[in-house]
Amino acid sequence: MVKPNILLIYTGGTIGMIKDFKTGVLKAFDFKTLLDKIPELQLLECTIETVSFDEPIDSSNMNPEYWVQIAEIIESNYNTFDGFVVLHGSDTMSYTASALSFMLENLAKPVVFTGSQLPIGDLRTDAKENLITSIQMASLQENEKPIIKEVCLYFEYKLYRANRTTKLNAENFKAFASLNYPELAESGVHLKVNNDYLFKPDLEKSLIVHKHLDTNIALIKLFPGISESFLTNVLTNTTLKAVILETYGAGNCTTEAWFLNLIKQTITRGVQVINITQCISGSVMMGHYETSNQLKIIGVVSGKDLTTEAAICKLMYLLGQNIQEKEFKRNFETSLRGEMS
Ligand code: ASP
Repeated sequence: MVKPNILLIYTGGTIGMIKDFKTGVLKAFDFKTLLDKIPELQLLECTIETVSFDEPIDSSNMNPEYWVQIAEIIESNYNTFDGFVVLHGSDTMSYTASALSFMLENLAKPVVFTGSQLPIGDLRTDAKENLITSIQMASLQENEKPIIKEVCLYFEYKLYRANRTTKLNAENFKAFASLNYPELAESGVHLKVNNDYLFKPDLEKSLIVHKHLDTNIALIKLFPGISESFLTNVLTNTTLKAVILETYGAGNCTTEAWFLNLIKQTITRGVQVINITQCISGSVMMGHYETSNQLKIIGVVSGKDLTTEAAICKLMYLLGQNIQEKEFKRNFETSLRGEMS
């Protein structure tokens, strides 16, 4: 049997740091020497090659240009490798991984994002388990074909659909959660894959890599007392193409006239307004309460149970597709990569 061939892509983050034991300072580790530094990787039932950003970054500096770089590495190696593991800082990992899920249409191989809370050289590191199991997840095959065919995020024994994840904890090893979708797989004594929850792409179609992302968007979290002049300034900005409103509960907002009129005028000017909930779990249901019914009537788009991270990335992706204004609502409200229920 031919061993699966996995490409490890190092973008930066704590996982790739190593402590200089003399000075105690954390410094970036040369990823080309990864196999020598972590001999356990030689025991895996796969072959591993590595590629690294020329200048690895803290993921707080991530942006869509880097997303395109990651997509291009996957695109140019797509036929040579059976799976991809992307090492990334945890801070913005859910954004990058969500973005990649939209950018890689018809993906038929695993792309597993992982990272760690402690550097790989640290005595109590979570990096080794995250890295080793991510590689194993990406290597899972049936009849010499990958079992996982989507962009995922692996952290602390759980494999999640990437565009369902959020970073919830800045300290715990269990840093991520997928509150609106079950985990895809779990690592215990055995790797247990929940086949029913895996994304099933159309295998007849070939990979399309979308590289145009439109960043003329805004994200506004409502709070009691939000100022009319601040909101007016943001929503009348001439470069704005779409705005995500993080509303209360099941998609509710104030029914004050100034607010509803402003949203109505914004939509009339051709700016898309999307409603997602600021709750960490559950879904927008416009029309359920009087305080969301007006939004439905004036044409606000429902983000249903999207995470903020997935909503932002889906928005940049769809605006980048230049789809017609009329078509936008239907496309946004449709699940494209399993990102909404
Ligand atoms: N600040 C780091 C980053 O996101 C934290 C981490 O690596 O987990 O790049």
